[in-house]
Amino acid sequence: MRFVDEYRRARPVKRLEREIRRAADRLGRKVRFMEICGGHTTAIHRFGIPSLLPDQIELLSGPGCPVCVTPTTYIDRALSLACDASCTLTTFGDLYRVPGSDGALEDASARGADVRVVYSPRDALKFALSDPQKVVTFLAVGFETTAPAVAATVLEASAQGIENFRIMSGHKTMPRALRALVEAPQVALDGFILPGHVSTIIGPEPYGFLPQEFGMACCVSGFEPTDILRSILALTLQVVKREFCVQNEYRRAVRKEGNAVAREQMSRVFEPCDSQWRGLGLIPNSGLDVKSEWRAYSVDPPDPTLPSEKHEDCRCEQLLRGLARPTDCPLFGTVCTPDSAVGPCMVSSEGSCAAFYKYGAGGIES
Ligand code: SF4
Repeated sequence: MRFVDEYRRARPVKRLEREIRRAADRLGRKVRFMEICGGHTTAIHRFGIPSLLPDQIELLSGPGCPVCVTPTTYIDRALSLACDASCTLTTFGDLYRVPGSDGALEDASARGADVRVVYSPRDALKFALSDPQKVVTFLAVGFETTAPAVAATVLEASAQGIENFRIMSGHKTMPRALRALVEAPQVALDGFILPGHVSTIIGPEPYGFLPQEFGMACCVSGFEPTDILRSILALTLQVVKREFCVQNEYRRAVRKEGNAVAREQMSRVFEPCDSQWRGLGLIPNSGLDVKSEWRAYSVDPPDPTLPSEKHEDCRCEQLLRGLARPTDCPLFGTVCTPDSAVGPCMVSSEGSCAAFYKYGAGGIES
C-alpha cells in the first residue's frame, strides 16, 4: 500500500538502526526521549521500536493520549449529565470506558442512561436533528487535532438552527503542556518526538521555545517504523552536536504553516482557558473554552481548579509525566487489564499501559 509499505521495509529499518547505533556511540551518556502522541505510543510498541535501540537511548511516553489526560472531574460531570432523562450523551468510544469516581459512562448506560458512542461530532449533530425532544451533548475531548472538527460542528449547528445540540469542551492544547512538563521538577528529558497529527494543524513553529529556552532536541514524526526511527536519529544527532531545533521528519503531512483553515475554525468557536490535566495538574491557558457568542451550544465543564481523583495504586499520573513505566504499576496485567481497566492509560487504545499490555516490549511487526 502506497505511503505505508515504503515506510515499513526491512532494509531501510536496518539501515536506520545502524545509523542510530553509530550516533549513540558518540553520545557519551544515556538520553531520554519522550513521545507525546498516543498514535506514536501505539506505533512504537506495535513495531517494537525499543528493541531496535541501543542502551543509551530510552523512550518514554508522555501526556499524548487525550483520554488519558482528561481528569476524573470531567468524567464525573459527564456522569451527572447522563442522569438527566432529557439528555443524550455522545462520546468517542475510548472515553466511554474510563472510570470516574462512581463508575464509567458504560455503567451509566447499563443503568439506562442514554449514552451513545459516535465516530465524529457530526454524528452527534445528526442525533440532535433526528430527536428534537432531547438535548444531545457531545463530550469534546482531544487536542488541536479534534478541536477543529468540533468547532465546525458548532458552526454547522448554528447555521442549521439546531438548538438542541451542545458540547462540553474538555479540549486541550499541546505547547503549554510541554512547557509545564519541562519546567516540572524531576522530569529530566533530552528531547521530544513531537506529535504528527497535532502538528498538521499548528505546524512546527509553536514548539520553538523547547530548543531555544530549554536546549531540547525536537523532531516532528510520522507513525511508520522508518518515520519514528528517522526522528530518533535526528534527536540523537541534535544531542551529539548540541545543535537544537525543531526538525520536521513528517513533511509529507506537516507543513511549515500548519493548517490555517482548521485553526481559523477553532479560533472562531474557542478561546484559551485554564485546564486541569491528569498527571500535570492545572496549566494556565492550556485548554479551549467555548466563546460567549456560542454559549447556547455549550455545557459548562467542571471547575478546572478541582483536583483529579485517582485509584491510590494507579500510576497513570507518573506515567503521563515520564516518571514511571507501565510495568512499574503494581496493578499492571493483574488487577488492571484492558478488560478490567483501573486507569485511563489501560482503557484507551492510545494509552501506554494498553499498548504495552497488547504488544509487550518486542512488538508484533518489524
Ligand atoms: S496498569 Fe492500570 S492502574 Fe496501573 S498505571 Fe496503568 S492504567 Fe493505571
